[in-house]
Amino acid sequence: MKTIFAILFVSLISVADLAGQGSKDQAASRIWISDVTILSPERLDHIATGSVLIEDGRIVRVERKQRAKKPAGATVVDGKGQFLIPGLIDSHVHLASVPGMGFDQISSNAEMTRSYYKQMPRSYLYYGYTTLVDLGVMVDHQVMKDFRQSPEHPDLYDCGDALVFANGYPMSYAPPEVRFELFSNFIYDPEQASSIPPEYKPEAHTPAADVARVKGAGGICVKTFYERGFGHAKNLPVMSEDVLAEIRKEATRDGLVLMMHANSYEAQKFAADGGVDVIAHGMWNWGDLEKEKEMPDEVRQVLDRIVEKKIGYQPTVQVLEGERVYFEPDYLGSAAIRKVVPKEMVAWFNTAEGKRFKKDLADDDTPDAVMAQGYEKGPIRRDQLVVAYLASKNANFLFGTDTPSGPTYGNLPGLNGYLEMRQLQKAGMSLTQIFKAATISNAREFKLDSELGTIERGKIANLLLLKKSPLDSVDAYDSITTVWVHGTAIARDSLAVDSVK
Ligand SMILES: [Zn+2]
Repeated sequence: MKTIFAILFVSLISVADLAGQGSKDQAASRIWISDVTILSPERLDHIATGSVLIEDGRIVRVERKQRAKKPAGATVVDGKGQFLIPGLIDSHVHLASVPGMGFDQISSNAEMTRSYYKQMPRSYLYYGYTTLVDLGVMVDHQVMKDFRQSPEHPDLYDCGDALVFANGYPMSYAPPEVRFELFSNFIYDPEQASSIPPEYKPEAHTPAADVARVKGAGGICVKTFYERGFGHAKNLPVMSEDVLAEIRKEATRDGLVLMMHANSYEAQKFAADGGVDVIAHGMWNWGDLEKEKEMPDEVRQVLDRIVEKKIGYQPTVQVLEGERVYFEPDYLGSAAIRKVVPKEMVAWFNTAEGKRFKKDLADDDTPDAVMAQGYEKGPIRRDQLVVAYLASKNANFLFGTDTPSGPTYGNLPGLNGYLEMRQLQKAGMSLTQIFKAATISNAREFKLDSELGTIERGKIANLLLLKKSPLDSVDAYDSITTVWVHGTAIARDSLAVDSVK
């Protein structure tokens, strides 16, 4: 075991000085990454080649000059010709959801699900995600616990149980008999008293009580929804301005980041007016305004307000692409997929049962190519226009993928982040904007910036070594050679599904 580790370590990250180090632990405690181009998002106007010292999981020295003297007893990692960046932060994931599977399929494929969960933390690390924020809806404590106890895993924060409006999205998907039990942190609506079981008392489901439960469970954010529904479930009840104002007040008092699921013109207007901190999706539904060819003034005005109020914005283009791929014949053949989910799962995706979600997306007689084009010319294009506009105004973009956004095999852990970055670039964000969104901006918004988000003394040593610069091409995020999590180096290739363990 130790031998295999050493071989990987030496061959992949060219560690000098490894001989003579007694153990992995000793090697991990003091690391000197030398002659590397340091790319830290707060210092992009002064990019320098230098060295970084990691000790006991923290960054303790950053030298922005060449040939700084190696500290005694440190293991040297030669970073020559490579780039060092902070570990990436994805502030919108759903770890308990399994891509491509509905709830019934998760329970009837227990073995496959187990091996998926086992690989999942490694897949996020494979693409450089060292910090995640789970926006769970219902927190699956076992999945979170297992994740945090797995040998190699990103840091994990969460928003606790989401504040779902009574009988609204997404609790409307659960049968009425169980939905209040499942979405127990729901917001009471007096107007719907007759359809809320009597054991749920109004005073226990006020915004204040709900936010307090999130805070009490250790959440760092509050997740809310403004969604009237789509497909078969339309005209769902949504919260009023007064309810949002109360949530806003309570979240501020408890120091929690207020996030809102909102992807329509109406919803984002509501979110912006109500002063949420983060809008968790791009605006791809324009309602009646969709008739217009270019971006309507009404949309632009809402986006201007989002910019002005510095509201965090997660475009989540991959939510749409994750549906579009069901109409894409070659998607499951991609080699990248095989690195992030177990082989047997990819095989299952290829079965009729594995493609069940397609039936929910497809209009019966519409050919696949037409469906795929419908996504491109419809919601994807609208989201791209919104991203381009916000990019031109240098909005407060936050990197969040919504992995997986539904029972789709089009949103796979880690890989989905890389694909989202490609989408953001295609839509018009600059490489600097993408880099900041996934590092310093996420760290600041979620109040993690004293620990994460930059390469500075005192911060947690969550770092990535890359062959290419992420300021030159988005491909750089697929050129990672080493991932450090709290100062422990992991060779990237060892994190893939097919690696030697
Ligand atoms: Zn989500």
